[in-house]
Amino acid sequence: MSSTGKINVQTENIFPIIKKFLYSDNEIFLRELVSNAVDATQKLKALSRMGEPTGDIENVSIEVEIDKVGKTITIKDKGIGMTKEEIEKYITQIAFSGAEEFVTKYKDKVDKNVVIGHFGLGFYSAFMVAKKVEIFSLSYKEGSQAVRWECDGSPEYTIEENQTHTQRGTHIVLHIADDCEEYLENHKIEGLLKKYCKFLPVEIKFGTKKEWTDQGEKDEKGEPKKTEIEVDNIINNPSPAWTKKPADLSDEDYKAFYRELYPMQFDEPLFHIHLNVDYPFNLTGILYFPKLSNKLEMPKDRIQLYCNQVFVTDNVENIVPDFLTLLRGVIDSPDIPLNVSRSYLQADGNVKKIASHITTKVASKLEDLFKKDRADFEKKWDDIKIFVQYGMLSDEKFYDKINKVALFKNTDGKYFTAEEYQNLINSNQIDKDNKTVYLYSTNALEQHAYIDAAKNRGYDVLIFDTMLDAHYINHLESKLKDAQFVRVDSDTVDKLIRKEETTVSNLTEDQQKQLQPIIEGTISKEQFTVQFESLTEKDAPMLITRPEFMRRMKDMNQMGGGGAMGFYGQLPDMYNLVVNANHPLIARILNETDADKQNALAKQASDLALLSQGLLKGEGLTNFIKRSVDLI
Ligand code: ADP
Ligand code: MG
Repeated sequence: MSSTGKINVQTENIFPIIKKFLYSDNEIFLRELVSNAVDATQKLKALSRMGEPTGDIENVSIEVEIDKVGKTITIKDKGIGMTKEEIEKYITQIAFSGAEEFVTKYKDKVDKNVVIGHFGLGFYSAFMVAKKVEIFSLSYKEGSQAVRWECDGSPEYTIEENQTHTQRGTHIVLHIADDCEEYLENHKIEGLLKKYCKFLPVEIKFGTKKEWTDQGEKDEKGEPKKTEIEVDNIINNPSPAWTKKPADLSDEDYKAFYRELYPMQFDEPLFHIHLNVDYPFNLTGILYFPKLSNKLEMPKDRIQLYCNQVFVTDNVENIVPDFLTLLRGVIDSPDIPLNVSRSYLQADGNVKKIASHITTKVASKLEDLFKKDRADFEKKWDDIKIFVQYGMLSDEKFYDKINKVALFKNTDGKYFTAEEYQNLINSNQIDKDNKTVYLYSTNALEQHAYIDAAKNRGYDVLIFDTMLDAHYINHLESKLKDAQFVRVDSDTVDKLIRKEETTVSNLTEDQQKQLQPIIEGTISKEQFTVQFESLTEKDAPMLITRPEFMRRMKDMNQMGGGGAMGFYGQLPDMYNLVVNANHPLIARILNETDADKQNALAKQASDLALLSQGLLKGEGLTNFIKRSVDLI
């Protein structure tokens, strides 16, 4: 008995719209059809557990086959199957109403690849690549009659009883459209199965792979005889680590799963977090901390989002907080509403709870590590620092949780918590306004002379050398009580921490005025401000400092900051040329009567200051060398 019917839609041209709309993501058809096959298989197992007679539930693998000659792809399952009535109901009616709703709702919105499967439209994604689709199905129900359904993408379809399909379950046959023949390539389909189906809970076998193998016989030459045999290639791991109990997994298991997720990744993860929530939402997963470089870059190997072991996306933006996207691993949750566009995701209650749950978990994992093995935590600190800072900067709650274990590192390579550090500098680094002054260096090599001077004064110097540090320092100043951060080269050592008004000057004001233009003549006035200071005779005759405020504004501007910072970013680099009024060389310059000699001496002294800051380059450097030779 055969009948034809007309699919009930007002939009007669629904397929061209879906096809065009989804064109760039048409590869997801395979994910949709295979997950339907998985659903059908899981339903069968559930029914069997409930005592229904279902037949064999052991050998229920799903098979995906390519027929290059017939130009078809077939997805076979041994699941519950469908009766004629069920096909008409589930495939025809429901899906079509879903399609209509979909088209009206999402015509202009994006996020195609996550929408379709959750709109009762999964099956119809087949028409993105097929010009004709056949369904052969036999329901598990006793006495069922096999049926064949066929549709060419127009609202017209055929459904009839079928005699050739004798196995319980469903075969979906896609007659691949002429412009989609790439999908008839083995590597293409295998790649898609590995992408979307790698962890599906039912075994998936792919196609017929030809392999040469030794059958134990010899050929005429006495060589082992090679025979072409067909083997089924199993694609997936039906029980991936995140679905297991943490107690059943060893450290090695977690590492092995990391390699399974990211086969091209050779670095081992630093540590992992196993997520497992069932109230008020469902979420499982494993997150890994990779070794991060000092730069914030979009990671290539990203967190993968699954929905009941079906790969959905590796773009988890708006689902997990931005700073967590630096991690790797998987999150699996059936409670993330994938049928809405991404901009709505952030507002979704469940998504918010999920994000905050993950954040809390990550923070407590870090706390645990710190408490359990401080030495190991310190060893890992440089690799996770940028992540922690990013989190502290962008998430108040994370800051509050983590700030007890976030570390400072000083120029001797020692690590301190904020509290420990405060105690360390408490007596010596308080200025006259009662502020605690934190000295830091952004480059221990380049700023060596300044660090040395500060240390001789009994000060401690921190290392802040990552790209987030400028922002981080600002943040800390707003968080830590009475704290001020000053870069070690931003002033002379006496003035880094202003204690009380300092020593007497050997130069009178008149003498300073006399020297000012001579020294200004040695440098560019736009870039340098000449200042006299009364340092000791042991300090350098002249030195360059860079005011903390200006430099920080510029640093932050480089990181992107906009607003007022944009303005500071455009200013030229400004430095102070500090003249040590108490240095004998300065007195010598003052007392030199020969103007040429006087200028040369002044130039030599300011060049030396530039040189120690790495600011003397090109022609300036060449001239300096020549002049030095002459002087010698
Ligand atoms: P969804 O999977 O979201 O329900 P689909 O369009 O993918 O939407 O499938 C529609 C319905 O068709 C399914 O809910 C199921 O009842 C039925 N179906 C699809 N594929 C199969 C299959 N391989 N075996 C049994 N039933 C199926
Ligand atoms: Mg589906």
